[in-house]
Amino acid sequence: METKTISAEDVGIGVDLSPPLSPLTFSLYDSFLSSHCSSCFSLLPPTPPHSLYCSAACSLVDDSPTVSPPDLSPILSTSDIRAALRLLNSISSSSAAASLPHRFGGLLTNHRRLMADSSFSVAIRRAASFISAVLRSDRGNTVLEEAAICAVLTNAVEVQDRAGVAIGIAVYGSRFSWINHSCSPNACYRFVISPPPHSTTTSSFQETLPRITNTDKEHFSSNYEGTVRYGPKVIVRSIKRIKSGEEITVSYIDLLQPTGLRQSDLWSKYRFICNCGRCAASPPAYVDSILEGVVALDHDELTTVGHHDGAATVGKMTSHINKAIDDFLSDDIDPATCCEKIEGVLHHGILDSSSLRLHPSHHAALHAYITLASAYRIRSIDSETDDFGRAFEMSRIGAAYSLFLAGVSHHLVSAELSFAISAANFWTRAGESLLELASKFLMESSGEYDDDDVKCSKCLMLVENHGEIKENFNQILKCAVTDSDSSQVTWSFLIRGCPYLQNFKSSIDFSFTGNHCKREESKSVDQRVSILLLSFHCLLYADLLTDLCYGRKSHSVS
Ligand SMILES: [Zn+2]
Ligand SMILES: [Zn+2]
Repeated sequence: METKTISAEDVGIGVDLSPPLSPLTFSLYDSFLSSHCSSCFSLLPPTPPHSLYCSAACSLVDDSPTVSPPDLSPILSTSDIRAALRLLNSISSSSAAASLPHRFGGLLTNHRRLMADSSFSVAIRRAASFISAVLRSDRGNTVLEEAAICAVLTNAVEVQDRAGVAIGIAVYGSRFSWINHSCSPNACYRFVISPPPHSTTTSSFQETLPRITNTDKEHFSSNYEGTVRYGPKVIVRSIKRIKSGEEITVSYIDLLQPTGLRQSDLWSKYRFICNCGRCAASPPAYVDSILEGVVALDHDELTTVGHHDGAATVGKMTSHINKAIDDFLSDDIDPATCCEKIEGVLHHGILDSSSLRLHPSHHAALHAYITLASAYRIRSIDSETDDFGRAFEMSRIGAAYSLFLAGVSHHLVSAELSFAISAANFWTRAGESLLELASKFLMESSGEYDDDDVKCSKCLMLVENHGEIKENFNQILKCAVTDSDSSQVTWSFLIRGCPYLQNFKSSIDFSFTGNHCKREESKSVDQRVSILLLSFHCLLYADLLTDLCYGRKSHSVS
């Protein structure tokens, strides 16, 4: 029987559904072992002597053996093996063994499916004997170790720090791990990473949020919850309205991918085929049609066409862009060449094939904007010492791509609210890059401006009054990009010298005009003030999204 995690009551948007849940096991990635505490995942103090722990308290609670596991990549990472070892070390083998090897301490293991695949089974057996030797097991077989490894592979989530950097993995008990995947989820989760408190009293907060229950009540309230009372905690939060009894879902993968890529991602990582509403929709959901959409250049007009018209061409464009991104990330090409290659494909398509272009929301285009924003930023930093004018230009175009990506993500969020998690990051970056650009203005001229000119009291008041989420978003956007007198002028200013972005009338309007954007010169608008104001609105918008998904502010707007 498939178990479902359900909501115990009606909840609104942006509500914590669980208390901070302790992990069953966890492990840092190798590259973070020397910078982060192996026990609580918080940053280690920079002063030597280097230790694995941030404090005596952390080193005392962690009784897992320190080992160097064998390298069995790409199937098993050393952190997977360390996590499995910690799991076995902390759970008594008699209680874990209840229904081996298909369940381990209440967790599904996927044991049969994983061991049926020889590429997995060989690595799992080798790791199992390694763990068995470390723990000096005298059981004569490694079924328990295998089950622990499979439980980690099936249930581990990547733990991210506040900046969104994945620093390790953790496995949580049934209240978290039994939550099923959906590509259109109604909940998300975040981590609480903090050094241990000085007092040893356990928090009474633990049971104050009983909003999650399960259809399989018998196994659900098992005593495997948070056996290890340390390590990174997780909190589940609603991102949509959820009715009492409705299933709670989260996403296991990157949702900004079209259906085919999500399915192959889920299969390779979790060995299941997703049948959620978004995956099963026929015709495909709107967001999926644009995530792999193309447009055709017809008489200088771009019109949206289905992706089946020219799958080969789209495949070529996608792989050209992905190759340029990979080469840039591995330092094989410099930022300028990277920009030239990616913008070439976005703007001109592929030479031998006529008129097809990627839709501005195509998943490869989204990755292209992220890369372009950072490549232009690097070019700006590189020119800062000897050519300030050029540094400013590069910073300007980089900010334009950041803002455009935020705009595209807004378009996606309005169709599917669960994209809010990515959109929060995109709007934050857009706000920050505009702020950086504005600071370059200030270095150039020293004109005075009024503080109130770069804040918008209308939006601030609205947000402080905790209005309806949708209304807040609409008001901020109206102010920031669609309604304000200066927005068109500012957008034209940002995209000057960037033929691809000149196809778009504004940062959130993807109707292709065919005619390039008019180059309006600003007369009445002080460009610096309007960019600061735009940056303010972006950060305010990012704050709303971050509050919705993470229950905290991303940035102090002031
Ligand atoms: Zn610590
Ligand atoms: Zn799905």
